[in-house]
Amino acid sequence: MSVFASYVRGGWVTPDGVEGRPMTDAVTGEEIGRLATDGIDMAAVAEYGRRTGGPALRALSFHQRASLLKALAGHLREHREELYAVSARTGATKGDAKFDVDGGIGVLQVYASLGKRELPASGPWLDGDLAPLSRGGTFVAQHVYTPLQGVAVQVNAYNFPCWGPLEKLAPAFLAGVPTIIKPATPTAFLTAELVRLIVDSGLLPEGSVQFLAGSTGDLFDHLTEQDLVSFTGSASTARQLRTHPVLAARAVRFTAEADSLNCSILGPDATPGTPEFDLYVSQLVTEMTVKAGQKCTAIRRAFVPAAQADAVVEAVRGKLAEVVVGDPSAEGVTMGALAGLEQREEVRRSLKSLTDAAEVVFGDPEQVDVRGADAERGAFLSPVLLRATADSAAVHEVEAFGPVSTVVPYSSTAEVIELAARGQGSLAGSVVTADPDVAREVVLGVAPWHGRLLVLDRGDAKESTGHGSPMPQLVHGGPGRAGGGEEMGGLRGVAHHMQRSAIQASPDMLSAITGRWVPGSARTVTDEHPFRKHLEDLRPGDTVVGGPRRVTESDVEHFAEFTGDTFYAHLDAEAAAANPFFGERVAHGYLVVSFAAGLFVDPAPGPVLANFGVDNLRFLTPVKFGDELTITLTAKDISPRASAAYGEVRWDAEVVNGDGEPVAKYDVLTLVAKRG
Ligand code: NDP
Repeated sequence: MSVFASYVRGGWVTPDGVEGRPMTDAVTGEEIGRLATDGIDMAAVAEYGRRTGGPALRALSFHQRASLLKALAGHLREHREELYAVSARTGATKGDAKFDVDGGIGVLQVYASLGKRELPASGPWLDGDLAPLSRGGTFVAQHVYTPLQGVAVQVNAYNFPCWGPLEKLAPAFLAGVPTIIKPATPTAFLTAELVRLIVDSGLLPEGSVQFLAGSTGDLFDHLTEQDLVSFTGSASTARQLRTHPVLAARAVRFTAEADSLNCSILGPDATPGTPEFDLYVSQLVTEMTVKAGQKCTAIRRAFVPAAQADAVVEAVRGKLAEVVVGDPSAEGVTMGALAGLEQREEVRRSLKSLTDAAEVVFGDPEQVDVRGADAERGAFLSPVLLRATADSAAVHEVEAFGPVSTVVPYSSTAEVIELAARGQGSLAGSVVTADPDVAREVVLGVAPWHGRLLVLDRGDAKESTGHGSPMPQLVHGGPGRAGGGEEMGGLRGVAHHMQRSAIQASPDMLSAITGRWVPGSARTVTDEHPFRKHLEDLRPGDTVVGGPRRVTESDVEHFAEFTGDTFYAHLDAEAAAANPFFGERVAHGYLVVSFAAGLFVDPAPGPVLANFGVDNLRFLTPVKFGDELTITLTAKDISPRASAAYGEVRWDAEVVNGDGEPVAKYDVLTLVAKRG
């Protein structure tokens, strides 16, 4: 049987004369191929990523990398039928394959759009606001993110051979860090197909993705301070890798997502006949059967009020009886096989530990009717529902990584919060209730033990993405037993691949380093109004000063009448006098910003296309009748949009009164045309 090739150092490499570890078809038991990385120089693989992939990625902007992710998503989408076909051999139904394949493509798309929307077109990514550090304003600081100059090694679990590598690749790639993909043995043949599609697309810079079709060998011995490891799999392997001497000695960033005894809690209000009861039951059955329960987020512990336990068990049994187990390609099959016979044995072993203290209320761990396949050659298992009492230790300790869940009755919300914590840290939990008090108490009680919590009720059920779906925008990971790591979480996942540094300097130096104008640094005022400049001609620091303009009582009265804003502080002298902030009638804040616009705008048609908002508007000093306003507007941040004829310009706006006191501060956001 042939050994699969690894994609390393710019080519496909197949080791000669080695046996390798077999991968088998989960449905037929037939051998698909073997895995081996013998003879691959792991130090050179890591170095190739650092020396070839890293510089190529860092030469691109966030927006360019985001465009490549988008293009890759499109390419994989076009070829997804090829992935579905291979996916069936992992035991996955078409629905499961979509979860894995389309879910992974979806992560690429979300990161592509986050990159374009939220990250700068050029220059470093800034973290937070400028920190003033001195009275005179000559010493300030800014946190900036720069990409780590190492490789991101991803060690994946067998249950999501496409989604796993893609959810780790997307944030690393967007950050500018090359990736080495190591799949889990049982389903590596599907990851190999995914990587073949990625490589064949020719879209990604050389060295940005490498693939090991087999063990990592001595790769970890060659990792450095700038590398990272993202692991998904068992808690025991996580522990072993986390304490690897090189990782420890060199403080290599390590994030783990390990096994997790996720719970779903039915609220006391959700009695039979309520929509929440039905939602709870359907969700539990879905989580038991999608991917044959081999989901790190699946519900292992179903906590239900003691009074509803019988009804829940009955309803779940009813639905599980409709599940058809078998060859995913056979008509009518709704649940496929586990990833392999070894995995089935592992689940059966876990079930033995569980059934010492729990009663089987549905399914037979040893036997199942199978449609369209041989029940013994394929890794088929019946869904198994257990029922246990809250004090059963095994329920809170043993994860049966298959279509297995245990119903556990509870007597009070305080008790269920304590029971949830006995899982020692979980990836995902859900609370199904229509009672806001229950939702608040339970969510805030169990949150310290969870990475993500879903509150499900009749209001959000239709659009809810469900208990078991990690979302790229949200944190995926959990404390304690769940590994203590965090993946995705929108831009948090990108930041994880970057170094955050605090840069302390003068405002001018910070402007030069970040490419953004920093308050306190030099402004450029010329005869040419900045609104006459196209995007390419504008520079950070380009400034227009408008005013002064006197604010009169009749201005304020006119504004009040015109807009209908007749708030007492502007019109009623007696009431305004009693107001501790004003002491007398004052101008409307919105009048101030309207006057400011009138002072800085250049009215003739030109490259400024639109004003699309203001950010961070603050009114700082009340404007009294007779005050004179001056506005200073300075180009702060200039972001071309890659595929548009315009870009965004953020302007710093400061309005001061005749004494030079700041009256209002804000950012004005405009769209400005490119030349031609
Ligand atoms: P493992 O922890 O054995 O394997 C996970 C990954 O780690 C695989 O890619 C594996 O490679 C790799 N690996 C194992 N040992 C090493 C090592 N010394 N150095 C480098 N890489 C290593 O988990 P399994 O896949 O066997 O699953 C076991 C259990 O883990 C499941 O039954 C379940 O409880 C839990 N699990 C949790 C998941 C989650 O998402 N949280 C997902 C999957 C499983 P290889 O396959 O080549 O050995």
